[in-house]
Amino acid sequence: MALGYGDFVFCDIESNSLEPAQDLCSKANWSSSESKPSENKHPKRPFTGSSRFTPHPGDAGSVQHESQSPPTSGLREPPHKLPRNALGPESKSEARMRRWFIWLARTVAMFAVIVAIAAWLLIAWPMRVTHPALKLASGTLAIQHARIYTSPTAAPILDGTVVIVDGRISAVGPSPEIPAGAIMLNCDHCVVTAGFWNAHVHFTEPKWSMANWQSAQKLDAQLADMLTSRGFTTVVDTGSNPIDTIALRRRIESGELRGPFIYTAGPALYPPHGIPFYIRDSAPSWLQFLMPQPGTPKAASDDVERDIRRGSDITKLFTGSWVAHGTVLPMPLDLAKAAVDRTHLNGRLVFSHPSNLAGTQVAIQSGADVLAHAPDSTAGIDRTLFSTMVHQNMAMIPTLKMFATTVTKDPGYLDPIYAEVHQFHSLGGQLIFGTDVGYMHDYTTGDEFDALGHCGLTPMDILAMLTTAPASRFGVSQMKGTVTPGKLADLTILDGDPAEDLAAFSRVRMTIRSGKVIYQR
Ligand SMILES: [Zn+2]
Repeated sequence: MALGYGDFVFCDIESNSLEPAQDLCSKANWSSSESKPSENKHPKRPFTGSSRFTPHPGDAGSVQHESQSPPTSGLREPPHKLPRNALGPESKSEARMRRWFIWLARTVAMFAVIVAIAAWLLIAWPMRVTHPALKLASGTLAIQHARIYTSPTAAPILDGTVVIVDGRISAVGPSPEIPAGAIMLNCDHCVVTAGFWNAHVHFTEPKWSMANWQSAQKLDAQLADMLTSRGFTTVVDTGSNPIDTIALRRRIESGELRGPFIYTAGPALYPPHGIPFYIRDSAPSWLQFLMPQPGTPKAASDDVERDIRRGSDITKLFTGSWVAHGTVLPMPLDLAKAAVDRTHLNGRLVFSHPSNLAGTQVAIQSGADVLAHAPDSTAGIDRTLFSTMVHQNMAMIPTLKMFATTVTKDPGYLDPIYAEVHQFHSLGGQLIFGTDVGYMHDYTTGDEFDALGHCGLTPMDILAMLTTAPASRFGVSQMKGTVTPGKLADLTILDGDPAEDLAAFSRVRMTIRSGKVIYQR
């Protein structure tokens, strides 16, 4: 008979004069042998009074003993204590290791869950609604005794009334009928225009970070300071962290905040190794790591598609990037073209940061729609280039004050830029108002209006830049841009007449968006 280690154990215990154990011993031997169980076939080892053999944990015979033969007072050690006594130094070490691995696995799993929840709260939750529905204010308003510029091309109504019903303009004229119960806004010789656009802003200052979680009161004050107190009812963010911009837009459209309608580019796209020096010098390195610098046309196209899925309305390309003082790195044309093509396939506009001749040529040749700045390195920029731009129906946002406040006030630098704006406008190029606030920390608009006047633009040219030109460029002329019945009640109310004094464009008394007063001085 072949006996295992456990078999001997049984027989040693069994030989301790216990009848049940004898039976078990027989069964154990039976199970481990082809022979029929028999008392004569018990192992012939003599009883020594104490067993030097102990069951090995997991031994089949040992388990059978425990389950079928309850411990009796005659046994020296209850079976359930045997494994503990049986553990040698190696077994204890293994058990410790097993417990340690279980603890580690649980800790890692819990940490992963916490990180996933935190990431979802910080990223996905603020961006859960990328394009909220437009919400119009309910009720009736009437603005009386106002000088009304219904559009830049129409003579003003010198003493007229605008009636707003449920967020839309319902009537405008010298004396339209005012519905009973209307809230009267007596403006006392104020000037009413369509709501202003600022087509070049950023929400990159630290005060906008974690916009989803900041108090409405704080954000309202910031929105008023930067935008609504300047009369802006629509803005175009040309490059910011979409987590903040999308959250701001959602909170504004839900009615939680008083702010303008926001179009956003999400993150701008840069040439490979093309982060501008002024961003390299100021932005945290981890943020620079996240700034898209696609290396191939496919990567550029994929970046655009990803940003559109995340809520971007336009694409911003650094077709010419100031990578160092005096050095512009143009974006490779095939990359720019891939990004432009993908953007246009999605029915959206491409804004270009041109910087110089090479960057402007990439913008033109790739098919970009809008120069987000006048080229500030003007060498080689000539009438022929601008004629090509006009022929391709490209627009330009001069951002003159930005150059004068963040680069230099040297007339030798600024005057050629003013000349560019004048020439582009003279050739019939479309100019759109934008200031680059957010990057530029001085939010006042008076200097920009003043500089545009220096470029030879008339007050009505500037009003077109603020209203009809951007509405047309974004394809929303049926809703915005003029004071016309049926359009959204986006209105800017000024204290003076800009036709008499350009500075009046910056003296904003009230800003109304979709029939709701979002700023009142
Ligand atoms: Zn900018």
